[in-house]
Amino acid sequence: MNKNSSNMMALAPNTSEKRETVCIFGTGDFGRALGHKMIQSGYPVVYGSRRTQISNLIPKDAEVLGHTEAAQKAAIIIIAIQRQHYNFLTPLAEVLRGKVLVDISNNLKLNQYPESNAEHLAQLLPGSKVVKAFNTVSAWALQSGMLDASRQVFVCGDDLKAKQTVMNIVRALGLTPLDKGSLLAAQEIENYPLQLFPMWKFPIFLSLGLTAFFFFYCVALEIIYTYIYENNDFSFFIAITIPNRVCPVMALILLALVYLPGIFAAIIQLYRGTKYRRFPDWLDKWMLCRKQLGLIALAFASLHVVFTLVTPMRAFVSWRTSKRIISQALNNQTEPLDHTNAWLSDSYLALGILGFFLFVLLGITSLPSVSNNVNWREFRFVQSKLGYLSLILCTAHTLVYGGKWFLNPLAYKWYLPDIYILSLIIPCAVLVVKFLLVFPCVDKPLTQIRQGSERNPKYSE
Ligand code: NAP
Repeated sequence: MNKNSSNMMALAPNTSEKRETVCIFGTGDFGRALGHKMIQSGYPVVYGSRRTQISNLIPKDAEVLGHTEAAQKAAIIIIAIQRQHYNFLTPLAEVLRGKVLVDISNNLKLNQYPESNAEHLAQLLPGSKVVKAFNTVSAWALQSGMLDASRQVFVCGDDLKAKQTVMNIVRALGLTPLDKGSLLAAQEIENYPLQLFPMWKFPIFLSLGLTAFFFFYCVALEIIYTYIYENNDFSFFIAITIPNRVCPVMALILLALVYLPGIFAAIIQLYRGTKYRRFPDWLDKWMLCRKQLGLIALAFASLHVVFTLVTPMRAFVSWRTSKRIISQALNNQTEPLDHTNAWLSDSYLALGILGFFLFVLLGITSLPSVSNNVNWREFRFVQSKLGYLSLILCTAHTLVYGGKWFLNPLAYKWYLPDIYILSLIIPCAVLVVKFLLVFPCVDKPLTQIRQGSERNPKYSE
């Protein structure tokens, strides 16, 4: 049965089946939101609170009692209270003995305490069975019906039966439990909601840095140089011309940077003659953010497509075209069709279109909903084989674009190369080394190393 169908079943709980009472300690934001959802799913809910009077914020049909009386009514108690108040639970140890305590708490900082909140709770109440769950779901998401939030709930705990009971409740609420193992995983689960795009930091900073560099490089060569030596004010290039130079350059470099760590990894493995030695930390981190680098590259490539499509609408382009036509008319001569140029321009566009098509395909297959539906071999085929093909096409697109300019001194203003020349360095290096790596005399030993063979005793210990 696939994930969606199990969700649909969970969304329509069988309320004719009697559900067991659940106790929630704490009538704060989260306690109320979770209680409301539980009542909707058919669970009788009793709150344990310091104040037992019913307010109109408490979900209808829920009971509010003192902590001891409420705990006596249920075998599962959800602790919707901040960790710093857990000490009030110690005197309740007897009444909580043998019961399942669900720790849903989060902290304000990563690794705020030496041990996780759930482990702390288990130490305070060793007679209870502590399970960590629900901390990645927000009160707001529960109230808004989880329409635009993640449905995944990480669950961990040392008692298998207690964990199973909590996972069943998660399912009954229309959410998807994900078993993360024993209570040792609680720290990681508690850190999860505090992370801010952890895999995106390096790709985003790298892209911002490179974009700023190429942008100012272009401003210097396209605007300042022209102003100084030709007395032409092309400052409006900042709006479309320069972004449309920077975007393809960024797309190509970032796409090459997706494949460069794989090349480094292969060279290191060949040099060491074993795959059993860890890669340097920087390479491990780089490998882990390849998907993010690829997605940012795709965003730059898409912007390049949009900027290119609006080119005919630009006042500067229509002025330049009409100037050329008028000058031909005034000189009473028409330029014959330059077939070489026509070929180059069509090939350049065709390579760009095909490269972008494959680029989009790579982006689509990296979406979890798609990658979950292909097997490992299919995923590798798309990401590796089609990925390299996309890199070849995009590099060829740039080479054909600038081909006739590489040796022209006019292309080197202030003796600096144009940015499309700079953009080719990493992709060409990646493709050349990859080409060498597929030669049987290199590929064979590399495949053997990846299958477990060890060739260099120095690195085998
Ligand atoms: P909250 O609105 O501040 O509510 C906490 C509740 O704890 C209070 O309403 C109170 O309930 C009880 N409480 C406060 N001081 C106490 C004390 N000294 N002794 C005993 N009970 C005390 O907080 P919350 O937003 O509901 O969050 C509760 C827990 O859920 C936190 O650990 C939080 O990290 C976690 N969480 C919250 C969210 C969210 O979106 N809010 C999401 C995931 C996890 P009574 O007045 O009824 O006693």
